[in-house]
Amino acid sequence: MLLQGRILNDAFRPPIPGWLLIQDQRIVEVGHGQPPSKPDAGDASSIICPGFIDAHLHLPQIDSIGHDGLDLLHWLEEVIFPAEALWQDESWAARQVETAYGRLLRAGTLGYAGFLSSHFHGYVHVVRTGHHWPIRAIVGQTLMDRNAPPALLNQSLARIASSVRSRVNSSINPRFALTCSDELLALAKSRAAPGTYIQTHLAESELEVQRVRVLFPNDPHYAGIYDRHGLLTPHTLLAHSVHLNDAEWQLIAERKSVVVHCPTANIFLRSGVFDLDKARRFGVRLAVGSDIAAGPDLSMPAVARSMIETAKFRTMTIDGAAYIPSPAEVWNLITRGNAEALGWHDAGRIEIGAAADLLVLNPPFQTDDHLVEQLLYTWRDDYIVARIAAGRFVNAPPSPKESFETGPSSRTLQRGR
Ligand SMILES: [Zn+2]
Repeated sequence: MLLQGRILNDAFRPPIPGWLLIQDQRIVEVGHGQPPSKPDAGDASSIICPGFIDAHLHLPQIDSIGHDGLDLLHWLEEVIFPAEALWQDESWAARQVETAYGRLLRAGTLGYAGFLSSHFHGYVHVVRTGHHWPIRAIVGQTLMDRNAPPALLNQSLARIASSVRSRVNSSINPRFALTCSDELLALAKSRAAPGTYIQTHLAESELEVQRVRVLFPNDPHYAGIYDRHGLLTPHTLLAHSVHLNDAEWQLIAERKSVVVHCPTANIFLRSGVFDLDKARRFGVRLAVGSDIAAGPDLSMPAVARSMIETAKFRTMTIDGAAYIPSPAEVWNLITRGNAEALGWHDAGRIEIGAAADLLVLNPPFQTDDHLVEQLLYTWRDDYIVARIAAGRFVNAPPSPKESFETGPSSRTLQRGR
């Protein structure tokens, strides 16, 4: 496959007119100037950039975007747990994976780290869907054993997937300390072989932090609970991390775990304002995620923009807040930065040997000097004219005339504490 366009590999540099040759899922040649033959996609005015990577989302919440007016814990109880319980119907789960993958592709997201429901078969359908839509994934079933409806509690981890198949890498995903006992956290650790990715949530809202303190009175702080169980590793993704004290920042930095900033979700649920200054001061590894459905935007450029806006908001309202990331910095974060955070060292970049997960864009402007700013602040998914995942063209389903299904109506949901 041959692609032509202005190559946007590093957002701090202007794009370079050229072409890419792709074979066996990889970029095998990068050339400048005119391509050696007629390209399969793109032309001299197109932009070629790495596909976007989303470091935190929930597939079962794909149709739950926009239920406004609730704080995190009430939103989980009233909106999210019922949506996730629907996944006990396997055919429903399969359709939802398809729906989610279609929308991710449309948004140009070609890699993600995420959560399924607590049901094992969700993982099976992710692997299946990945055969025709080869989005790269780190994904695991959500683990909970308390403070959630009985239908969503994991009775045992006997069936937790732990294989690496196709482009899907399974992870261990205890939801958060509020829904996990010490026994479950210990079991989660025992199932995480060295190098296994661990995904969880940390200190998203103040009420959550208060309740966790009551449940775990002997731990010094929230992050310390995960650390006591050996769950803070260089392969751990900690979503949110809004309400941390300095000891927690220090601990996370020492463990080399990744904090996943979810700016759109933090605002939607009014959970708090992420402290980017602290993350930088302590040298914590940082990624950024949509957190669908707490975050309303699947498009990673929109999430990246929200990261800038959150930082600007802090500087306007909080004494001592200083750092505002540039458009180039956040653009790099949703490509190569998130790739590094997820341990995908061959992704999020355009160079020989890199995975061929690419987008061809035809935005309605030709500037080079302010290209990334303009892409970020005017972003529309229809700038994307071709998506290449694992070295082949993939077609996103047609744009959003899809109906938002409401789920199996006969199902009676059991609510529980
Ligand atoms: Zn989340």
